[in-house]
Amino acid sequence: MRKQEVSALLIGRFQPFHNGHLEVIRTISKQCDRLIVGIGSAQLSHTFENPFTAGERHLMISRALHDEGMDNFFLVPMVDINRYAIWVAHVASLVPPFQDVYSNNPLTRRLFEEAGYEVRSAPLFDRAVYSGTEIRKRIISGKEWEHLVPKGVAETIHEVHGDQRLKDITKEYSREVTI
Ligand code: NAD
Repeated sequence: MRKQEVSALLIGRFQPFHNGHLEVIRTISKQCDRLIVGIGSAQLSHTFENPFTAGERHLMISRALHDEGMDNFFLVPMVDINRYAIWVAHVASLVPPFQDVYSNNPLTRRLFEEAGYEVRSAPLFDRAVYSGTEIRKRIISGKEWEHLVPKGVAETIHEVHGDQRLKDITKEYSREVTI
């Protein structure tokens, strides 16, 4: 018989996955046998808030975690269902069984707590710079951003021309707004 394993679930949009997310995973992985990463809002891409597809985010995260020497993880893309009352059941139907949930997102925390899960907070790591919004703004304005993300993430963004995509969609957006 296999020994009882503790699985922890972390959900985020990871637009993009950055060093703050990686620090959270380093902390969590000391407290569980198996990590499940839910790639949230999987249906969204090609906008300023959500520039990268679920597949691109999957590649970024798997490269970053393999480079960390991790192999005990599952990456599960999750489409939003926008029916908050049943969202936790939707998530649970997609991922392997889990005991612990980690999130700082107030809505995610509330929904899991109301469903009877104990939700743990992960400490925030230098949120001013390790933030998806900050990294996307830097990409658009041509500032340095690669040092804020794991190497495999920067490689993936360059490979899919994600930096140029972000610049282009933001230009298109500002043109629409001024017309
Ligand atoms: P995110 O990528 O911004 O953050 C993921 C996690 O990492 C969060 O807990 C965040 O606090 C943490 N984090 C970010 N920067 C950090 C740093 N520097 N140091 C430490 N921790 C850091 O993703 P998010 O917006 O929280 O994603 C929540 C997902 O859940 C979304 O996709 C949302 O759509 C989904 N959701 C969907 C429904 C629904 O469809 N009904 C309901 C609730 C949530």
